[in-house]
Amino acid sequence: MIVGASLAGAKAAETLREEGFDGRIVLIGAEPDRPYERPPLSKEYLRGEAGREKVYVHGEGYYAAHDIDLQLGRSAVSLDPGAKEIELDDGERIEYDRLLLTTGARPNRLPVSGSDLDGVLVLRSVEDSDVLRDRLSRAESLVVIGSGWIGAEVAASARQLGVDVTMVGREAMPLERVLGPQVGAVYRDVHADHGVRMCMETGVEAFEGVGRVERVRTSDDRELACDLVVVGVGVHPRSELAARAGLAVDNGILVDEHLRTTSPGVFAAGDVASARHPFYDRRVRVEHWSNALNQGPAAARSMLGGREPYERLPYFFSDQYDVGMEYTGLAGRQDRVVFRGDPAAREFIVFWLSGDRVVAGMNVNVWDVVEPIQQLIRDRVPVDVDRLADPDVALEDVRARTASTPIPSERPRA
Ligand SMILES: Cc1cc2nc3c(=O)[nH]c(=O)nc-3n(C[C@H](O)[C@H](O)[C@H](O)COP(=O)(O)OP(=O)(O)OC[C@H]3O[C@@H](n4cnc5c(N)ncnc54)[C@H](O)[C@@H]3O)c2cc1C
Repeated sequence: MIVGASLAGAKAAETLREEGFDGRIVLIGAEPDRPYERPPLSKEYLRGEAGREKVYVHGEGYYAAHDIDLQLGRSAVSLDPGAKEIELDDGERIEYDRLLLTTGARPNRLPVSGSDLDGVLVLRSVEDSDVLRDRLSRAESLVVIGSGWIGAEVAASARQLGVDVTMVGREAMPLERVLGPQVGAVYRDVHADHGVRMCMETGVEAFEGVGRVERVRTSDDRELACDLVVVGVGVHPRSELAARAGLAVDNGILVDEHLRTTSPGVFAAGDVASARHPFYDRRVRVEHWSNALNQGPAAARSMLGGREPYERLPYFFSDQYDVGMEYTGLAGRQDRVVFRGDPAAREFIVFWLSGDRVVAGMNVNVWDVVEPIQQLIRDRVPVDVDRLADPDVALEDVRARTASTPIPSERPRA
């Protein structure tokens, strides 16, 4: 039984069959659509450059062909781990031997007056994206609340569609919370070059208008006239089902490195899972596509008795205008930033270092470097910062010559 028919859930079902499981597979999804991928919803799908067929995880006939009982438009409302049963919203109870929870995350709303006005939107589902595309086609001005990934990507797509955009963000730079101020400044310049107005270091006091949103009042008392608002202020893991059933939950469903929850026979994966990560030796909850893509299959293998821990490094990508990037690893606010290449040219790699070790790297319009970046992170060896910053030195050759490099023996060989 898999609850949550999205990327992680669909990939888990696929993997169960690939691994030879021939028992019953039930994949329950609250949404009316068969499993789809969300990244295009703020990019090419939102802009109308890609159709529905492009976003689905599998072709239409896939689930029937693989004997996967896909039940759409149905929600699991309770879980009884003792009886090994879930209850659906229409009262039906279904028994399971193993259960995977891939219930994902839902977007946060702003608890301010006017949040329920027409034209104040969030973006999570394909329906949200359809509504937003339709509204953008008629809008002159959009205010994006939040300068994280969703805010930045929606801003970029809306500008590409010719809509006026103002971004409101708590921090000084877009994407500052994840990337820090130096790299955030690169994105500030990218957006400014495309005509996005920034209204930073402030929050939202209220959305105002008669019947529909007409302006945003900021915490520093500015008034931003608009005919559309997208709120992109983070997501919250959908762990209520697990919590009510008594599973351990703390910012997501707690799972070990095999994606097992605290309840025997119940697993969790994707955005909803806070998973013990062997490399970091702590729990990490990753809200990104690649995690859902890979954790679903890993959970499926664990459900079948596999013993391999999930230890992929966090990875995500983003596309804004003609600036594509990939980020891998996990950096903290205190980590040192080292650029390799010229950020102003928007073709560079940036590393985050803790002491003299690389903990994260991001390649911007530079491709096929994720593997060596991941190797540097995994190696945990000191690097020579000058060589790291030099695009002419191969990433494989940036290790520092320090005590941790094995010292060749002075003894003559026999
Ligand atoms: C607009 C947008 C753009 C994005 N772009 C990127 C990007 O560029 N790069 C990147 O790395 N990541 C991106 N992401 C993040 C990425 O899409 C998510 O990390 C990924 O979708 C997580 O997949 P998931 O399967 O864990 O959960 P979700 O995609 O959240 O799916 C969970 C599913 O479970 C269903 N569900 C929940 N509760 C129940 C229940 N009780 N019963 C039945 N069904 C239930 C939900 O309806 C939903 O369909 C983006 C996300 C969005 C919204």
